[in-house]
Amino acid sequence: MPFSSLGLADHLARAVAAQGYTAPTPIQAKTIPLVLAGRDLLASAQTGTGKTAAFILPLLQRLQDSIPERSPSRLQPVRALVLTPTRELAAQVGDSARRYGRHASIRSTVIVGGVSLKPQCDALRRGVDLLIATPGRLLDHVSQRNVDLSRIEILVLDEADRMLDMGFIPAIRRILTLLPRQRQNLLFSATLPETIRHLAAELLRDPVTVDVAPRNATADLVRQQVHPVDHARKSELLAHLLHTGDAGQTLVFTRTKHGADRLARQLDRVGLRAAALHGNKSQSARTRALDDFKQGHVRVLVATDIAARGLDIAQLPLVVNYELPHVPEDYVHRIGRTGRAGRDGVALSLVCEDEAPRLQTIQRLLGRTLPSAVVDGFAPARSARPKPLASPAQTRAGRPAATGPLNPARAARPPGDRPNRTPRPPATPTQRDAHRSRDRQPTSSLAKSGEPR
Ligand code: AMP
Repeated sequence: MPFSSLGLADHLARAVAAQGYTAPTPIQAKTIPLVLAGRDLLASAQTGTGKTAAFILPLLQRLQDSIPERSPSRLQPVRALVLTPTRELAAQVGDSARRYGRHASIRSTVIVGGVSLKPQCDALRRGVDLLIATPGRLLDHVSQRNVDLSRIEILVLDEADRMLDMGFIPAIRRILTLLPRQRQNLLFSATLPETIRHLAAELLRDPVTVDVAPRNATADLVRQQVHPVDHARKSELLAHLLHTGDAGQTLVFTRTKHGADRLARQLDRVGLRAAALHGNKSQSARTRALDDFKQGHVRVLVATDIAARGLDIAQLPLVVNYELPHVPEDYVHRIGRTGRAGRDGVALSLVCEDEAPRLQTIQRLLGRTLPSAVVDGFAPARSARPKPLASPAQTRAGRPAATGPLNPARAARPPGDRPNRTPRPPATPTQRDAHRSRDRQPTSSLAKSGEPR
């Protein structure tokens, strides 16, 4: 099905073609005609499904179709507002708006915290049709009367479940009071917990529900693998896997900000270029870390869940759960960073004994036992093996086995398929480095929102 059959204007179809996209993704095919028709939408879709274009394209078209008279003398009202949980996601949506809107005359701006207010004030004063913002900084501008939201025609809440996790729902409710009653509302969320359903019921009028990613299902293209290992040897195992494997760019998740810093330093020290991304970093440091990673200057990005939310990093072959997340749904989000847009990916979880209950909860959420294999030379002193969920048929996948170095083509084969046993790698100095960092960088809104230190 070509993009043009969705009712998109020629200038947008051309901009999409310039990106090299030949056909809409399922969410785009479902959503674009509905948004063009002015419907409210409750869309359950993860990052990686093409959801950004699914709302930006029709939104640009609707704005372009009805450009009002602009009065140069007064503060011009914003016409469409996209709220995102993180600065990085806002920047990505802003990029998409620019790319897809290259032949349109819609003025868009990104407003996020952690950077100077002044350029944002200037942009707002010049006039903005499409505003992409994180809630906290938007409210700062509201309180300074820099922005008029009283004529919003379209509101998009992107990654609403993340906003909930990050404590943004009160801010969103406050923003809603500033908007006109008559408007189109689009709500995107990877999962639909009760609070989001309540919000949707309040916000949306006669919405169409679109569900592309089955709830809590992990992408078929992601091969998942558990490696049981002692806690004290995790960094050594990670370094071994990265040194011996050929996976390339790797996103590693830690639970805490200090853990991310420490691990990035440890990897750097053993010759693996690594950067950390978390909420205690200044905005410029976060942008730099992400850019370095995207451009391949840095091979490993070590990130916390909140900082990594919604990141669109093309062709990421490998995601590593250095520590399992406390919130089981975050596992699904994490591994959704790989195997994107039709490409294969591998998700490894390094699981120590203490994490066994967390692994059980994740497996329950997924409805299956994850394959598990001990890496040669890294057998845990105590058992950290995933227990099978239910049927005896599943236990085969849950049985640990020796495995060779990381290779995306091999990582998730059943243990019996593995031909190689690798010699134990030389010990790296990573384990011995245990001193803690004292990160003195300014606390961001992310840090305030409860990211573990
Ligand atoms: P998103 O879910 O919006 O984060 O998009 C995930 C990735 O898919 C981004 O890198 C997009 O550029 C890409 N993408 C979006 N639409 C298409 C399409 N129709 N065909 C191929 N890739 C796409």
